[in-house]
Amino acid sequence: RFARDVNHVIAKHLVGKAKGTRSGIALEDLEDLEDIRDRVTVRKVQRADLHSWSFHRLRTFVTYKAAPAGVPVRLVEARDTSRTCHRCGHCEKKNRPSRDDFRCVGCGFAGPADHNAAINIGRRAVSHAADDAA
Ligand SMILES: [Zn+2]
Repeated sequence: RFARDVNHVIAKHLVGKAKGTRSGIALEDLEDLEDIRDRVTVRKVQRADLHSWSFHRLRTFVTYKAAPAGVPVRLVEARDTSRTCHRCGHCEKKNRPSRDDFRCVGCGFAGPADHNAAINIGRRAVSHAADDAA
C-alpha cells in the first residue's frame, strides 16, 4: 500500500511537471514483464525484480494521469538502454559494473546508471517521434 501511494504521488508529480513544461514522458516498454508474471514462481519474482514490478505499476499510473492532462506518453524499446553510454554510444555489458553505477569502458564517462539510462530512453523517444513525423 505504501508503494502504491508513493507511486501515485510520483506519477502526479511527473505528469504535472511534463504538463508545466509542455513536455512528453518517455518510458521503457516493459510489456514482456507481463509474460514473466505468468511463468515464474512468486519467489523468483520477488528475488528477481520487485523494482520492475513497482515500476510497471508506476507506468500504469503515469499513463492514466497523463491522458486527461494532454501529456503524451511514449513507450520505447528497453533493450540496451542501461548498458549504452549516452555520451559516446558505446554499448557493452561491462559499462555497468553494478546495478547503480555506469562506467563507460569506451570513453570513461561515469555516473549513476539510472540517469544514463534515462537520457537514452528520452533520446529514443525523441528519435521515434521524428520517425513518426517523417
Ligand atoms: Zn562512452
